[in-house]
Amino acid sequence: MSPIGPITHVVIHYSATYPDQNLTAADIDRMHRARTPPFRCIGYHLFIRRDGSVETGRTETEQGAHVIGQNAGKIGICWAGGLERDSGAHVGVNNMAPTQEESLIRLIRDLRERYPGAKVVGHRDLAPTQCPGFDVIPWWAEIERAQAEALAGADQPTPAAWLARVWRTASRVLGRT
Ligand SMILES: [Zn+2]
Repeated sequence: MSPIGPITHVVIHYSATYPDQNLTAADIDRMHRARTPPFRCIGYHLFIRRDGSVETGRTETEQGAHVIGQNAGKIGICWAGGLERDSGAHVGVNNMAPTQEESLIRLIRDLRERYPGAKVVGHRDLAPTQCPGFDVIPWWAEIERAQAEALAGADQPTPAAWLARVWRTASRVLGRT
């Protein structure tokens, strides 16, 4: 295993599976070991299941396998989903469940506290792919702006209120109603 080196990026991915597939990190581990050439194990550091629960893949000190040729310094987070039965296997979309997005925001916040300089990007910002089905950079910028606003407000928000506010912002950015 290669050490990851200084953390420079948090990279968001989707699993390119359907929402009705209850994928786990163990499934991804099997899929990645079955690749040609095979990965040693799951390529991501963190995996978010459809129910929002978080499972770990590689440890943070180990280089991942999620952006070909660019894995040094990059933590990979994958959420389960990204395909719709209607549009099929070749159209990637953002169909994150609300609990998945909540988990994603919490994971990124935690990582950014520990690696303050790390950029938050999508796989498709680094390579020609649809993954992860939405533009991560403006999405995260809006969340950070909303967080700064909430923290600057006279009324210190409770974590729940803060999250609701961030959630509304994220939903707006993602075009949800
Ligand atoms: Zn990806």
